[in-house]
Amino acid sequence: MNKYFTDLMNRIFKKEKPKAQCTECLQSLQLLVDGETTQEQERYFRKHLDECTPCYTFYNLEKTVKEVLQNKIQQKPIPPALIENIKAGIRNQTQA
Ligand SMILES: [Zn+2]
Repeated sequence: MNKYFTDLMNRIFKKEKPKAQCTECLQSLQLLVDGETTQEQERYFRKHLDECTPCYTFYNLEKTVKEVLQNKIQQKPIPPALIENIKAGIRNQTQA
């Protein structure tokens, strides 16, 4: 278990003691967020998330972070009009 993960566990489970299932669940959260778990695993972890508030909170946090990152790196198509504008601008500049 790396330090990032241990710190996170300590922060999430301040008062409560994590269940064995929690450790398992949190370690697989990345896979779950990425949709890389098997159906069986997903069912198992989702059931746990329903019952366990700390794990649920953490899952949503991971999911949100991932979504934000994805939106950031997603390349938006450039409108053709904008490309024409830029080209025209360059042309004008080189002519001047
Ligand atoms: Zn849990």
